[in-house]
Amino acid sequence: MHKLEHIGIAVKSLSHSIPLFESLLNTNCYKKEEVESEGVITAFFSLGDQKIELLESTDPDGIIEKFIKKRGEGVHHIAFTVNDIEAEMKRLTEAGFVLLNDKPRPGADNKLVCFLHPAKTNSVLIELCMEKP
Ligand code: ZN
Repeated sequence: MHKLEHIGIAVKSLSHSIPLFESLLNTNCYKKEEVESEGVITAFFSLGDQKIELLESTDPDGIIEKFIKKRGEGVHHIAFTVNDIEAEMKRLTEAGFVLLNDKPRPGADNKLVCFLHPAKTNSVLIELCMEKP
């Protein structure tokens, strides 16, 4: 892992939260993208080298909907950039971490991603991401 890529925040409504974060960060949302496989619409803000990703659920049984029902809106995951996602997945598995997907899958913002089970990471959901080749 070599740098923090973004922080993912679960929100109930992008139409409410995009203007809120534009005002907070003093920068415009540069991209809105639906990730159908995850049941979310994402909105990205760039801050120097890092990003903030807002996630709104499109699926009543989806991960973001469940997260908000259980814990309310707020920080959902922290994402790190990796150079070689498969090598990093192998390294982390060997180190005893539990992956939530056994193959990298397509994420938002032209990335391949993999999540780590929060039970092994102090209850923090960790996302690995690599720019799609
Ligand atoms: Zn993310």
